[in-house]
Amino acid sequence: MIEKIPMYKKILFIAGLSFLFAFEQESIPVQKSFITFVGVKFNLVQNGNAPKRYLWIHGDEKTAKMALENHIKNYQGTAFFIQNEEREIPFENTIIDPNRVFSRNGAYYALRKFQPGWPPGSLKKALDQIDKDRKIFLNILMPSKDGLLIAVHNNFRGYNVRDEEPKSQRTSIKKEQNPRDFILCTNEDDFEKLSLGPFNVVLQNELPLSDDGSLSWEALRRNVRYLNVETRLGYLSQQKKMLKFIEKALE
Ligand SMILES: [Zn+2]
Repeated sequence: MIEKIPMYKKILFIAGLSFLFAFEQESIPVQKSFITFVGVKFNLVQNGNAPKRYLWIHGDEKTAKMALENHIKNYQGTAFFIQNEEREIPFENTIIDPNRVFSRNGAYYALRKFQPGWPPGSLKKALDQIDKDRKIFLNILMPSKDGLLIAVHNNFRGYNVRDEEPKSQRTSIKKEQNPRDFILCTNEDDFEKLSLGPFNVVLQNELPLSDDGSLSWEALRRNVRYLNVETRLGYLSQQKKMLKFIEKALE
């Protein structure tokens, strides 16, 4: 009898298999595999078994990618790298921001942003598919209870820490720091420790009335400590420094 294997089991099987191969090659300390989420591939780079997860999700934010590639060589955890060149990813007949689909409400707006009209029934079908994909992806991405989830981002235009102030419960903004470089966190103890350092820090530990589907809110719902390291595009040494600082401050 041929048993039909559900897709998520196949993905886990492939991921598991490549981990096994990596284990066999003992001289290579870093293990590599991949998973897919809403049709896009994420490469996984694992260094040791620490319950720390790192995520690079916007393909056009190359400085963040380089900072994370460097960081995962020196610190334990598993880093997820999206395999995409742009901010948005192709999905069905449109493109979507992959950091706006971590809730059904966010996905609804993301799907309609570049394609407002959908044939009857097709939008619900797409949302149901994203719901399924998200569940599988988050099961792999989210660290255990005592772990940390760290996302790395870059900004290009005017976006800065002041834009996050109205959504924040506490802020620690430093005069000598560029407002476009900051750390966002969702845990108050982490905020206390991080705000003692030289960098701008904001705390967002209350869910907003309208969830835009970004990962930070899902982490908050799950009570997972989340950090976002936001740095100006091109400021690689600054982003490396911020990541290094986080490891020390939250040791
Ligand atoms: Zn980003």
